[in-house]
Amino acid sequence: MQSFLDIPHHSDFTIHNIPFGVYSKDGHFSACTRVGDTIIDLNQCAHTRIFDGLSLPKGIFNKSTLNDFISLGKQTTTAVRKLIQEALNIGGFLDNDIFKGTSVFIPNDQVQMVLPIHIGDYTDFYSSKEHATNVGIMFRDPANALLPNWLHLPVGYHGRASSIVVSGTEIKRPSGQTMVDGADKPSFGPSKQLDFELEMGFVIGKNTQLGETISTHDAEDYIFGLMLFNDWSARDIQKWEYVPLGPFLAKNFASTISPWIVTLEALESFRVAGPTQDPEVLPYLQYEGDKNYDIHLSVDIVTAQGDSKRVSTSNFKYMYWNMCQQLAHHTVNGCNMRVGDLLASGTISGPTPDAYGSMLEICWKGTKPVQMPDGTERKFILDGDTVAMRGWCEKDGIRIGFGACDGKVIG
Ligand code: CA
Repeated sequence: MQSFLDIPHHSDFTIHNIPFGVYSKDGHFSACTRVGDTIIDLNQCAHTRIFDGLSLPKGIFNKSTLNDFISLGKQTTTAVRKLIQEALNIGGFLDNDIFKGTSVFIPNDQVQMVLPIHIGDYTDFYSSKEHATNVGIMFRDPANALLPNWLHLPVGYHGRASSIVVSGTEIKRPSGQTMVDGADKPSFGPSKQLDFELEMGFVIGKNTQLGETISTHDAEDYIFGLMLFNDWSARDIQKWEYVPLGPFLAKNFASTISPWIVTLEALESFRVAGPTQDPEVLPYLQYEGDKNYDIHLSVDIVTAQGDSKRVSTSNFKYMYWNMCQQLAHHTVNGCNMRVGDLLASGTISGPTPDAYGSMLEICWKGTKPVQMPDGTERKFILDGDTVAMRGWCEKDGIRIGFGACDGKVIG
């Protein structure tokens, strides 16, 4: 496939990607996709004849979220994606002249990407063995870094959907209670240990009923697509508050997502085998086939002056528990899923220090500061810093990516 639209070298948005998002311009919203640096307005596309035969509900793309579109089901959303590819492909079966005189194409810099889904519920897992091991070594017992349940189930908790924001939204440094080492009482103030967590999130594409379970075999039918996810974390607040019920105000002040939902179909050729799971997991968590994805991930810290430092280079393929297992576990008790729910992976750390997915690990509890190009150092994120996450797949000359997942911290 080759599009007649211009695609810059190394673009995330090749004809092989065709992710879904929502843009805003002059107070109006529309579902869209992107090829190269061109936004393709799907509402305007629907006014041409390219989706004829799909019987799409009128105005399905003329909305501020993708929930209704996703609810049409994979058969329809996959067909829409294929038709867009065909329409933008040189020599495809659709006549490219179909777009002449329309306002389907808009330069990327003329629109504002917005949160593409209404997120009903958000769950965060803790599924990287390397991350869980690092945290266990730092805060508990190096000889028994993983807690007894960790190798038997994908540990998770229910997060907060209201504070999930799209890339580009400024992040206000949270204030809260902390207990400084050696102090006899807690103090209150802005977090001094603001951190990121490099994660990926997946969007639920199909409802289940209360009491229904999803098997690992069927789980992919319920996954619409993936995005980058930064689970901002205030480590000093977390350390004091988390016992005995887990994360609360240290996590729920903000999480940043990339604006594009990359479909499972686009990721199909980047499947890889996951790590061997030992001990053997219970039958409801067993699975067949390759359920991990080779997605390169990076994190840069960019100072207010524009000096940039790459602090992590990881990969989604390192996940010990895959998305199908997470979904099977989440629903094994009958918990229902709804279209637009977001399930995040947990911090994605790799086997080597350059692949760690949080400052907590990269700087090993503050003992190994990162040297920035301007001569300053970082143990955590400072006001004015932007945390910039990227994710992309590349194989046999085909590249697809997730776009930007950026957040600037303000005081
Ligand atoms: Ca997390």
